[in-house]
Amino acid sequence: MKATHRVLVVGAGGLGSPVLRSLAQNGAAEITVIDDDRVDESNLHRQTLYTRDDVGRSKIGRAVASLRARSPGVSVQSVEGRFVPDTAMDLLKGKSLVVEGADNLATKFLVADAARLSEVPAVQAGAVRWAGWAFCALPDSACLRCLFEDIPRERIETCAEAGVVGPVVGVLGGLEAAFAIRLLQGERPGGELWHYDALKGSLRKTFVRRRSDCPLCAGEIQDLRMERYTAACAA
Ligand SMILES: [Zn+2]
Repeated sequence: MKATHRVLVVGAGGLGSPVLRSLAQNGAAEITVIDDDRVDESNLHRQTLYTRDDVGRSKIGRAVASLRARSPGVSVQSVEGRFVPDTAMDLLKGKSLVVEGADNLATKFLVADAARLSEVPAVQAGAVRWAGWAFCALPDSACLRCLFEDIPRERIETCAEAGVVGPVVGVLGGLEAAFAIRLLQGERPGGELWHYDALKGSLRKTFVRRRSDCPLCAGEIQDLRMERYTAACAA
């Protein structure tokens, strides 16, 4: 990998932990990580960057310390805060790719929209209970809105509410890291969707094509107005 690759990682939780560790250990990438949360004891089973001593402390500070301890040469910058429309485009400026590890759909759609408007490849994933998915969008491939259309109006369970099995999140974060490393090595896996189901014991690849009525691919979404991302939380 070239030393000039700059990767933005949104979220330093269950998905972000394996992503950050893999990127740091593969070296050469410059990592920026954004998160606004604190380490909670109930999340330690899936947020593997942290230890019991980190409970109550800022995730971002502990994540950076953990990465530097494991990979002393790593270049990692931290942003403490939420990934929001006001700052999304600035954070994506000059990045080679963004890897999203958020725990809510609103942020997933915001990352998808901001990445497409910035022409930055996006790797995204989600997991609930025993199953999940990982997806790669390139500027000229299908996007997350081709896959899921829009944030559902009814309330969607977040992973914190529905519960998620630690190793399942670990697998999905590992798949995201694999996507990231493939992209940094010059592969173009745009439109690839991986489904993992721990109960069925299956890992399945499908290919998502652009939907003709996708507003993001049609260029109808040109800005990141907050209203687009509040539907999931409003109900
Ligand atoms: Zn699309």
